[in-house]
Amino acid sequence: MGNNTSFFKSGLKAQDKVVAGFIEQEFQRQKDGIELIASENIVSKAVLEATGSILTNKYAEGLPPGPNGEYRRYYQGCEFIDKIETLCIERVKKLFKCKHANVQPHSGASANLAVMFAFVKPGDTIVGMSLDAGGHLTHGAAPTISGKWFNAVQYGLTDEGLLNYEEIEKLVFQHKPTLLIIGASAYPREINFKKIREILDRYHAKNTKHKCIYMVDIAHIAGLVVGGQHMSPFPYADVVTTTTHKTLRGTRGAVIMCNDEDYIKQINRSVFPGCQGGPLEHAIAGKAVAFGEALKPEFKQYIKQVVLNCKAMAKRLLELGYKLVSGGTDNHLLLVDLTPKGITGKDADKLLQDVNITTNKNTIPNDPLGPKITSGLRLGTAAITTRGFKEKDAIKVAELIDKTLINKDKSNYAKIKAEVKKEIKALTTKYPIY
Ligand SMILES: *Cc1c(COP(=O)(O)O)cnc(C)c1O
Repeated sequence: MGNNTSFFKSGLKAQDKVVAGFIEQEFQRQKDGIELIASENIVSKAVLEATGSILTNKYAEGLPPGPNGEYRRYYQGCEFIDKIETLCIERVKKLFKCKHANVQPHSGASANLAVMFAFVKPGDTIVGMSLDAGGHLTHGAAPTISGKWFNAVQYGLTDEGLLNYEEIEKLVFQHKPTLLIIGASAYPREINFKKIREILDRYHAKNTKHKCIYMVDIAHIAGLVVGGQHMSPFPYADVVTTTTHKTLRGTRGAVIMCNDEDYIKQINRSVFPGCQGGPLEHAIAGKAVAFGEALKPEFKQYIKQVVLNCKAMAKRLLELGYKLVSGGTDNHLLLVDLTPKGITGKDADKLLQDVNITTNKNTIPNDPLGPKITSGLRLGTAAITTRGFKEKDAIKVAELIDKTLINKDKSNYAKIKAEVKKEIKALTTKYPIY
């Protein structure tokens, strides 16, 4: 027995009660709550194990062996890491039916930054969806690198709350961007990636000297794409980024994919050394396990149920007098417009948190209340579906949301809240995690 036995054998509870205690509290919160944040999910025990493994000890700057078997790492001792990362790449290529992938980005924001660093120069023009229309911060919003270092032009939605393809076409012809970013964080409808390709084809026919890279960010809908519930961005997009922890249900992180050999070379250089140092190989192992799960037929069933649950929730909320941006949903999320109920997004997410329903306030198109208060609420069904919720449960959740919100000023609200909490406890007990 070496001197370090307790260092290597003694677990977190024995070594650090404070951190262990906070993790236990967070575990209870996850167990007892209805998770409706559209960007969250619950990973399998297998993904959790890979992510929490000894792989965190290893430095592996560089890439697994190249097409001719050449060693591309800056450190020795990577033979098993190489196997894991190569497997991860092969699985994600199979999953998305594409030719190349880099699985090292630490997060969605890092992946998007790496694409920009690869293809766009400071001062160049990029076109992306505006934050208040449902786009992501990294698509050109003012406080981010994408908004500060590039000339970011933003598109939005039609009055019906649908992606405005005409506006995108107009902006591309007018501003001649180096990069067009398609994708969203709060858009409940299917995006037609082919239609965007056709816009760019028309643009390139007229502007033969100017190349605009077509990037699609499927962070939210990746699971729907591989589950066959949403059109794939391949073969239309030049570059596709996605997070791995949302509907794809893997470890927190991201990947970048493409079909062009020159593009992947640029992307690889841009991820490392351009934007990142050593890859998180424990996270890459977690991604590999999750991709393995997503390749199984059960995943298709799961994603189908995610959409069924979301549609059931949407239908019930409409019956209960709520408005939905775009009138409904095609995917895993919906955007509730609370205006008819005279309640703000900020008040609603707080009231719901008090009964263990976790959501986030969200702006609606042209929101009169702004991003701090908001008139909307974003709800997603990826996490509850992982627990096993079916349509009848999703309908129940919609009813509990309504009961919590519409009675907020009643004198017997404490009693109503207690009733709601009891029903939520029944649901979370029926569908336990871990
Ligand atoms: C969530 C999200 C990201 C960012 O992912 P992080 O891992 O939080 O950095 C990027 N793009 C879109 C569209 C997203 O929804």
